[in-house]
Amino acid sequence: STHDSVLHIFLFPFLAQGHMIPIVDMAKLLSSRGIKITIVTTPLNSISISNSIKSSKSLYASNIHLLILKFPSAEVGLPDGCENLDFVISPAMIPKFISALNLLQTPFEEAVMEHRPHCIIADMFFPWANDVAAKVGIPRLNFHGSCFFSFCASEFVRIHQPYNHVSSETEPFLIPCLPRDITFTKMKLPEFVRENVKNYLSEFMEKALEAESTCYGVVMNSFYELEAEYADCYRNVFGRKAWHIGPLSLCNKETEEKAWRGNESSINEHECLKWLDSKKSNSVVYVCFGSIANFSFDQLKEIASGLEACGKNFIWVVRKVKGEEEKGEDEEWLPKGFEKRVEGKGMIIRGWAPQVLILEHPAVGGFVTHCGWNSTLEGVVAGVPMVTWPVSGEQFYNEKLVTEVLRIGVGVGVQKWVRIVGDFMKREAVEKAINRVMEGEEAEEMRNRAKEFAQMARNAIAENGSSYSDLDALIKELKWLSF
Ligand code: UDP
Repeated sequence: STHDSVLHIFLFPFLAQGHMIPIVDMAKLLSSRGIKITIVTTPLNSISISNSIKSSKSLYASNIHLLILKFPSAEVGLPDGCENLDFVISPAMIPKFISALNLLQTPFEEAVMEHRPHCIIADMFFPWANDVAAKVGIPRLNFHGSCFFSFCASEFVRIHQPYNHVSSETEPFLIPCLPRDITFTKMKLPEFVRENVKNYLSEFMEKALEAESTCYGVVMNSFYELEAEYADCYRNVFGRKAWHIGPLSLCNKETEEKAWRGNESSINEHECLKWLDSKKSNSVVYVCFGSIANFSFDQLKEIASGLEACGKNFIWVVRKVKGEEEKGEDEEWLPKGFEKRVEGKGMIIRGWAPQVLILEHPAVGGFVTHCGWNSTLEGVVAGVPMVTWPVSGEQFYNEKLVTEVLRIGVGVGVQKWVRIVGDFMKREAVEKAINRVMEGEEAEEMRNRAKEFAQMARNAIAENGSSYSDLDALIKELKWLSF
């Protein structure tokens, strides 16, 4: 019957905005292709997810359902409401958060048993989703929210351990087996890797990577033309199945009523656009470090001084850290008189910005980013050159992709992987890097290349484009497996 031929997919994003946002986009994309979607999440996270879905004018939003599992914060000794990585502000909370994630296995399994989806697309940080899928005999697809390049690079480093053959933390080594020569340093690796420590984090990563190697396949928020050599490498060298279906941020743009992505904007979107309308094209630099990275007051002051010194228009997003919300009020983190001096030129957003809306505005001509994959890809889609300022995660690899493979950005010069609170950079470095992407011949060349990638991104998701076709192939395969 026709009813039987409706695919039903469970989407289970990791509890962090950088993972939930692309999954919500994926839900909209898949439902527009006639697939029934259930997003599995926890009570607090369900609020931002359901608001993001509701803000979509998409006819298909009614095909997206939410399934809410209680988050076991009390069971692991976390404060009430600590359900998202952006609440995990002290190192002591991390192992507890991981324990809580693992406790979700049983309720998740019960939900799968009850609703019998045809497929699970779960975040790599739920490695046990493999076992759940195997129990009911359905495929488990993996989503790790990053790109082919960084996955290949980090796996080659993990497997071959080239960092064991350098004499210092700053001596460059070649990343083995990549189609192009890319160097890296030990300092840019996570602590537990560079110090060869076995702890809960290394164990957590190992489990995630093992599940990645044994799951049915991977869904990637990327497009073939952006990193073809590395997409081929992933498939051929690692021998894994993968479907690139991005950029997901583009897939549903025309249907959005309000730019609700992740959280509600901390500013009036209309005012923000009006402000941008008053600026010349490519004259504004947008500065944002994602949903997790966090800087000391000294670093924030240094960024402020760098922005002032370069003299460009800017929009700067300063994250409010959970539990430290008063930061926005006393302004201790800004140089004296800063806001007066930059009046009209600069806008500070305290909290959450409508990032894609801002990036897409023609007045924006550069992006200072921490190289989280979503932000990086959103920068590509907007066709703007980037200043790369990686902090942790796989961001140092993404930086390499932007600056050396795509050549659409310059590094601010960060050397060290530091979990949560980024490495310190001086104002001169900030000023210099921003000037390099905003003016002059080099900037023009980067901008032109960025615009080409932005066009390729649009072609990829258009009918018969590479991402469009890959999604077709994925849907066909899932139907073949299911019916
Ligand atoms: N984002 C946003 N407004 C903000 C900060 C972040 O809309 O003020 C969005 C951004 O557009 C991206 C996501 O949050 O889609 C952040 O993901 P990313 O992978 O860049 O970094 P993470 O937060 O995971 O470090």
